[in-house]
Amino acid sequence: MSPTVNDSPDYRMFILNASKRCEPSAFLFTKAVNFFLLNGYRIGSAIDDCTVILVNSCCVTEDKIAASLAALEIARAHTDRKRIVLFGCLASLPLPHLGREGLICIGPKDLDALDTHFPHHTSIRDIPCNRLHPALYEPGQGLRHGEYCVLIAQGCVNQCSYCNVKRSKGAVRSEPPSAIVPQIRQGLFLGVDEFTLLADDCASYGNDIGLDLVQLLEQLIGVGDDFRIKLGYVFPAYLLKRFSGLESLLRAGRVSYLNIPVQSGSQRILHLMNRQYAIDRVLECVRRLREAGPHTTVCTHLLVNFPTESREEFLASLRVADEFDEVLFLHYSDNRGTAAADLQPKVPPPEIRRRLDIASEYINRRKPGHGAVIKDFNCQAPYNIRRPSGG
Ligand code: SF4
Repeated sequence: MSPTVNDSPDYRMFILNASKRCEPSAFLFTKAVNFFLLNGYRIGSAIDDCTVILVNSCCVTEDKIAASLAALEIARAHTDRKRIVLFGCLASLPLPHLGREGLICIGPKDLDALDTHFPHHTSIRDIPCNRLHPALYEPGQGLRHGEYCVLIAQGCVNQCSYCNVKRSKGAVRSEPPSAIVPQIRQGLFLGVDEFTLLADDCASYGNDIGLDLVQLLEQLIGVGDDFRIKLGYVFPAYLLKRFSGLESLLRAGRVSYLNIPVQSGSQRILHLMNRQYAIDRVLECVRRLREAGPHTTVCTHLLVNFPTESREEFLASLRVADEFDEVLFLHYSDNRGTAAADLQPKVPPPEIRRRLDIASEYINRRKPGHGAVIKDFNCQAPYNIRRPSGG
């Protein structure tokens, strides 16, 4: 399918992207941009020469919300004859001060609405998309440019007390295997030997369609013998529920990467996060999975400086990090409107810096490239490599 390029200024679009580090977001935005390109639009280099402005947003932290709103302000300063399309999680987050008038808001689950807003010869449903556009995505932990991605679900069955993603995306919506398997076959035809399954929580897969992740994986590996699968976020409680199924998949060497975001080593903090699993049991499963799949890279995320977290509870998270091949320490910050934002007391700023420094020293002692400390998602480099000024 070759794009029909239209030289009319009416077919020029300008891109403002405040969400480059989230794989599901980059996937959906790549697909949206491909929709415009395949329907005759060109990417303009000057905002004033374009009639459509695409803004991709993120709501994972207040910093990312601020960056997304700043991008939106730039778009709104150039509204003359222009249509502004807001994509990403901000588009569906209940945010009273967003001001939606004059915007076309297309949330992560609403991409099909592009068909109703823009004349097209190729529907958004028929836009192929398996590789994140390198200009729209900055790879994070465990992922590289050029990976072959398959979106399996959006939304989540959990209710973590700090999470804006759940507030934006809501309940899980899964792709049926009949939509996923052909993408695996197509990838194999192209010579792909590793597939990255994308979801806000892979462990939520199938909740809405009477399936689960292990059942999906068993179907997928049945398609061929010579490929492996990378699994983004798998909610830790799922390990307890489906341990033997996951263990078999790792033992068979079919999972190359598995991210289990345990978030804290403290049971009390996990309770406040509304993440319902026994950390000791999860870690026992992680040890056994690593024995079963020595060639699987097993990763985690740890959210530090959560409200009321003591130094000892922070150190418990540091000890948990030893159980994983790769670890990201993420600094907690309040998301307005979440239950966690109301928790008191907050960790005082000097103690926050002390803990981020301790985590940085720990990460910098590990094998290079096997971890990072992220204080601010807008920063160009992790905290353990380059401190943001005033940080
Ligand atoms: S599991 Fe992840 S996406 Fe789901 S509510 Fe918790 S933090 Fe949010």
